[in-house]
Amino acid sequence: MGMPRSKAASAAPASSGRVLELIRTGEAATRTEIGRLTGLSRPAVALRVTELLRHGLVTEGATAPSSGGRPPARLEFNAAGGVVLSAVLGISRSQAAVYDLGGGLLAVAGGSPEVEHGPHIALPWLLETWQRLLEECGRSAADVRGSGIGVPGTVEFATGRTETPPVLAGWGGVDIAPLVAERFAAPVVVDNDVNAMALGEHRAVHPGVGDLLFVKVSTGIGAGVVAGGALLRGSLGAAGEIGHIPVRDGGGTPCRCGNTDCLEAVAAGPALLERMAEQGRPVAGVAELAGLAQEGDPDAVRLVRQAGRRLGEVLAGAVNLLNPEVIVLGGLLGRAHDHLVAGVREVVFKRSIPLATRQLRVVGNRSGEQAGLRGAAAAVLESVLAPEAVNARIAAQR
Ligand SMILES: [Zn+2]
Repeated sequence: MGMPRSKAASAAPASSGRVLELIRTGEAATRTEIGRLTGLSRPAVALRVTELLRHGLVTEGATAPSSGGRPPARLEFNAAGGVVLSAVLGISRSQAAVYDLGGGLLAVAGGSPEVEHGPHIALPWLLETWQRLLEECGRSAADVRGSGIGVPGTVEFATGRTETPPVLAGWGGVDIAPLVAERFAAPVVVDNDVNAMALGEHRAVHPGVGDLLFVKVSTGIGAGVVAGGALLRGSLGAAGEIGHIPVRDGGGTPCRCGNTDCLEAVAAGPALLERMAEQGRPVAGVAELAGLAQEGDPDAVRLVRQAGRRLGEVLAGAVNLLNPEVIVLGGLLGRAHDHLVAGVREVVFKRSIPLATRQLRVVGNRSGEQAGLRGAAAAVLESVLAPEAVNARIAAQR
């Protein structure tokens, strides 16, 4: 029998990266506490703290309460010791932002150009916008510790390469990371936009929840899965692609992926807009349709609720499989969450097993427009502040 993992891990002496993690999470605020938690000797603790201070990752602040004698210095994570860049590239709108190392928003810009115009327009826009935002908050490219980008469509996560998304001409197989790293020399994390939204919503609104499912319903339908507090990406990054799971009684509706009766083909924005048009009620876009539903327009309410039931049909299976504590409905149609949630609940609570729904909550997206930006920032922060990454950075600069 082997030793439990936690015991085996604690047998290795705690690194500077691990010490930073203890300070960053608030588990330790003084050298004494670090020594007690890690078992490191006083000189070993001092060595690591000095290294973290020298790299600007930690500051020595006001004094901590003392048990007698000279009060110990309080160590704090230096959120201002660098920045990360964050972006969500969207079909109708792209956003960019700069965050500090503690995940605090420093500057944000929304707007064009649309991703539809292709990477040769969207990427230069992104790099210029980040540069401008950095200047706005008095920072430079040298302060950038990493970049996180959410893109619409599946991303082969390990390589950061986009898969060919049928709706996005010109984006298939684009290696975004090297293009960004050329301008801002730091690690780049590229992920699916729904994964970014799931992580952002989790960190901002449901940090204590272990298992959460975030569903984006807009032009397309996709889900981000948080399991045990971390994103579940699957073996290549395609986890959560629920939009192409078929529903029953879809009437043979063709989907853009080539199959028929996919959830997306019957319940996403375009399908609903088509139904409205058929009833002689043309609506300009998904956001407008969601607005009508929230105002109580009977046609819009009926369609959104029906979309919720279709969604519930697929989510019932996901609930049995993953047993999430919270399902968050986001995206443009998620703005009509009262009706969408009602439709989802109607089916999920009927079709999933009782144990899986005993504590299940189905709610609307609360972190709003910035869920994706916040999540893309969180993904890169968690990557560059991981103990191994911190150790590697310190070793490289020694
Ligand atoms: Zn499909």
